Amino acid sequence: MDTDQLYEKALNLTPLSLAEGEFLYDNAPLEEIMFVGNELRKKHVPGKGVGWMIDRNVNITNVCFSQCQFCNFCRKKGDPDAYTTTTKEYISKIDEMYSLGGDQLLLQGGMNPELGLNFYIDLFSKLKELYPSLKLHALGPPEIVFLARKEKASYQEILSKLIKAGLDSLPGAGAEILSDRVRKTVSPAKATADEWIDVMRTAHLLNLPTSATMMYGHIESRKERIEHLIRLRELQDEKPEKHFGFIAFIPWPFQDEGTVLRERHGIRSSYSGPDYIKLVAISRIILNNITNIQASILTVGSETGMLALHAGANDLGSIMIEENVVSAAGGGNRFSAEDLQEIIKEAGFVPVRRNQKYEPYH
Ligand code: SF4
Repeated sequence: MDTDQLYEKALNLTPLSLAEGEFLYDNAPLEEIMFVGNELRKKHVPGKGVGWMIDRNVNITNVCFSQCQFCNFCRKKGDPDAYTTTTKEYISKIDEMYSLGGDQLLLQGGMNPELGLNFYIDLFSKLKELYPSLKLHALGPPEIVFLARKEKASYQEILSKLIKAGLDSLPGAGAEILSDRVRKTVSPAKATADEWIDVMRTAHLLNLPTSATMMYGHIESRKERIEHLIRLRELQDEKPEKHFGFIAFIPWPFQDEGTVLRERHGIRSSYSGPDYIKLVAISRIILNNITNIQASILTVGSETGMLALHAGANDLGSIMIEENVVSAAGGGNRFSAEDLQEIIKEAGFVPVRRNQKYEPYH
């Protein structure tokens, strides 16, 4: 095996094996792998456009039984600062989002044992009734697993009912690292790797647009990062032709500040800018069947984000009017719509405002 041979294979969009991915990760110089990532971006997304969007993150509730070890956001029922967002609060937040030019809501939050399927059906229906043009990018595979268990229903039944109520797309939340060895430590009560994959497989069969994520830089090995990417690629290969499948992949580093992982287990984030950029390039190489790769500038900042655009990323995500889970653990970058467009231009690209399906916004 040598790097040149693997670059050629990658540039022909041939899927790389686990051993080949690991070899590249360990041996490819950063500037070379950035070049290959960038060439592949041009194949998937020709031109100079880089996507960005305006949306708002509203957390449905911060009560969550899962108590993931990297999460400072969740509370237990009865905690003084536990909450479930009220209709009045949704209205004020959505009105504010519309006044800032957005119409897409990222609805996430804890897995509150008291909130069942009917709660979400009522919530989505109500929001759509009040705001017919609103787009709901909501929940994630762990919540679907939780609701399926609670309601003794299949993933297909849960997702179909939520789609009928107004769910427009399913975020790839809760993927962390798709390895049960890792999940047993960082998020033991959450969906297993297979469950996460099964929910996404069902969503793809129903042609619900989805995204895939990776939260890395804690206890996982490089091999497990590559395995994660290969699992995503294999699932994407299974999707029915012309169905959306995974529209995008978004990696972000573990933010350790104040988390149980750091405070109790001494696990610090292994994040570094060069490693993030290399991971973006590796992701572009391994994921030969996912069109969009988003750099998470909320967590890595503008400089690393700009470099990631030269390593295979073609999107900088959202200005995210409100975000509580990442910011509760020290992910403190904030950008306005103007900032985001300036960053894209400074990196040598053309800002393209997009919607949740990664289509140009009209
Ligand atoms: S990360 Fe999500 S699932 Fe995990 S404890 Fe926090 S809110 Fe719950």
